[in-house]
Amino acid sequence: MNAPVHPHALSTAELQALDSAHFLHPFTDHKGLAAKGARVITHADDIYVWDSEGKKILDAMSGLWCVNAGYGRKELADVAHAQMMKLPFYNSFFQTTNEPAVRLAARLAELAPAVDGRRFQHVFFSSSGSESNDTNVRMARRYWDLMGQPQRKVIISRHNAYHGSTMAGASLGGMSAMHAQGDLPIPNITHIQQPYYYELAEPGESQDAFGLRAARWLEDKILEIGPEKVAAFIAEPVQGAGGVIIPPATYWPEIQRIVDKYGILLISDEVICAFGRLGHWFAYEKFGYKPDLVTFAKAVTSGYIPLGGVLVGDRVAQVLIDKGGEFNHGYTYSGHPVACAVALANLDIMERENLPGRVRDDVGPYLAEVFEQFKSHPLVGDAETCGFVAGLVLVQDKATRKAFPEDWAVGMMCRAHCFGNGLVMRAVGDRMIIAPPLTMTRAQIDEMAVLIKKALDLTL
Ligand code: PLP
Repeated sequence: MNAPVHPHALSTAELQALDSAHFLHPFTDHKGLAAKGARVITHADDIYVWDSEGKKILDAMSGLWCVNAGYGRKELADVAHAQMMKLPFYNSFFQTTNEPAVRLAARLAELAPAVDGRRFQHVFFSSSGSESNDTNVRMARRYWDLMGQPQRKVIISRHNAYHGSTMAGASLGGMSAMHAQGDLPIPNITHIQQPYYYELAEPGESQDAFGLRAARWLEDKILEIGPEKVAAFIAEPVQGAGGVIIPPATYWPEIQRIVDKYGILLISDEVICAFGRLGHWFAYEKFGYKPDLVTFAKAVTSGYIPLGGVLVGDRVAQVLIDKGGEFNHGYTYSGHPVACAVALANLDIMERENLPGRVRDDVGPYLAEVFEQFKSHPLVGDAETCGFVAGLVLVQDKATRKAFPEDWAVGMMCRAHCFGNGLVMRAVGDRMIIAPPLTMTRAQIDEMAVLIKKALDLTL
């Protein structure tokens, strides 16, 4: 791993002033930010980042669910350098291609497991998860046009889902705060409730019974719209940005039964859940369902360079290729040679170090044991993990599951205590969530648990 470096000559105060004057950040209240100044992150190594004050911080969010292989991977920088010197860019429009993109498409096709003979032999590249979900909308509707059912336009998603920030991505997402800005959702996108057992189960209802009931909200919605008008259902295997909402075991099999019954396409948005995060290369494998399209981004390069895309299953690809002629869609950076070369090297690291396997069989189960212990904390209503994502629900009253008043912003308080102790943990309402690098050791899990416990005690 690299030694830390301190490349900047500007002081923290100077950087903050320039930041405030010129940089519009995503999802940020700029007046609030200007008052305290942005935290300047200067460098990173292993599972830690450092700020401009020299503070070392354990990054339990992998940047933003990205850095699955951990920070400081010199070989990824070397590969990027070599590829930039050889071919920094060329487009993949106009009947051209490049070797890293070809190799990556073939590698992903090989890594993506077939389920019941349904295979993924094709990949469409983009630069982000949002763009990839825009591609999904275009592709799903194009598929139905070509199938002679152009009335199938509606895409069903879920409340509190996150599918990106473009017009289509934010519309597919179920975040009401995003819909409230910019006249969203766009037409023909609708939402059902999320499978959030802790909040939505009836008193005494088992996880299994709730999972079936939650999946049947999809069937109700299909029947309300008319099955002949529904193009696709899109969902994250485990809802990430919505607060790590892990569905009961009965949920996905029932969803599969329903999409099969009505013939609608199933889109698995694995921007967070793929590449070892849940202990498998792809999360549909873990839950055993059969998507037609799979969105990926983030950890395909461990976040070292932007890259996203869609795995296109044979059902859709064959129709697009055989009947479709030109698909009028694509991005300048589709199949970017440097991004694809870095992705290949990142997948080499993951394979060599068996990162999905260690999450599945070693550190994932250990994280689950550690989180189980948080259930006895007076502030914690529930604690759950799935592979290397985890969430704690903070509640005012454990027995009745009574939530804290919203204006107490207890999650934000806990997050501030985490940061004070040198830990990045994210707050989504009253849910405290993590998604650490998959390289994290058992000793580092213990180190993180001490910091979480301290923050919970301070929040109490
Ligand atoms: N889909 C999911 C499930 C995500 O979690 C995200 C981002 O967090 C996106 C899509 C959007 O990806 P991007 O921010 O790369 O556009």
